[in-house]
Amino acid sequence: MRIFDPHIHMTSRTTDDYERMAAAGVRAVVEPAFWLGQPRTNVGSFTDYFDSLVGWEPFRAGQFGIRHHATIALNPKEANDRRCRPVLDELPRYLEKDGVVAVGEIGYDSMTPEEDDAFAAQLALAVAHDLPAMVHTPHRDKARGVERSLAVVAESGIAPERVVLDHLNEMTVKLVRDTGCWLGFSIYPDTKMSPPRMVELLKAYGTERVLVNSAADWGRSDPLLTRATGEAMLRAGFTDDDVDRVLWRNPVEFYGQSGRLDLTDDDLAEPTFAGNSILRGGS
Ligand SMILES: [Zn+2]
Repeated sequence: MRIFDPHIHMTSRTTDDYERMAAAGVRAVVEPAFWLGQPRTNVGSFTDYFDSLVGWEPFRAGQFGIRHHATIALNPKEANDRRCRPVLDELPRYLEKDGVVAVGEIGYDSMTPEEDDAFAAQLALAVAHDLPAMVHTPHRDKARGVERSLAVVAESGIAPERVVLDHLNEMTVKLVRDTGCWLGFSIYPDTKMSPPRMVELLKAYGTERVLVNSAADWGRSDPLLTRATGEAMLRAGFTDDDVDRVLWRNPVEFYGQSGRLDLTDDDLAEPTFAGNSILRGGS
């Protein structure tokens, strides 16, 4: 089983995770820029983070044979902090970089006017830079958040097939499926979407334009839930080809729209556990 996790925050994960992911078949990931938990107070804090998403983290992933790409944005939550707003001016130079395959995570957290502005401005950046957009949907008041997100996406003029709405569930999938946007599902250990529920959704709606991710981050989460979903699909009678479509070809198709997806693996480093100080993180 080859797996492309289209939404995972490896910055928050350990090398144990990289090792287990590689063993489970994860060959590629996309890491969206997001909220780190601790509020950031200045722009430099973001640019150092963005630099690590396009520099250090791909290097770390490469040691485990995993190809790493990033999406860059001012996340919805921190869009509400005026100290963070100037991050928007820094985005264009990152959106030109090779390893950046979309603008994201953008969208809504609490649906404030500040979030409206940042969301619309960043969809405009996606259009200007000819990149897809990765839209986070709020965990609270989700249906209203999805409806409002779809309205902002439509207003922006970005092609719907270049947009994924993530963290969908049984309720919100109905709102998105006929819009032409991609359907993103984050599989969590004990709340929200689970592998068996995901299988039921795939039975009901098919495998087209569906992305399945672990969204693993600094909270309770599991980077192997992509694999668990693939196995649950097989047990439910889906074919290997169906699994490959959902867990590999769909994310390749979606993020491939950036023209920057690089999945050649000849220069990926073999897993290494040698005592090289740089490979250990310089410590
Ligand atoms: Zn995320």
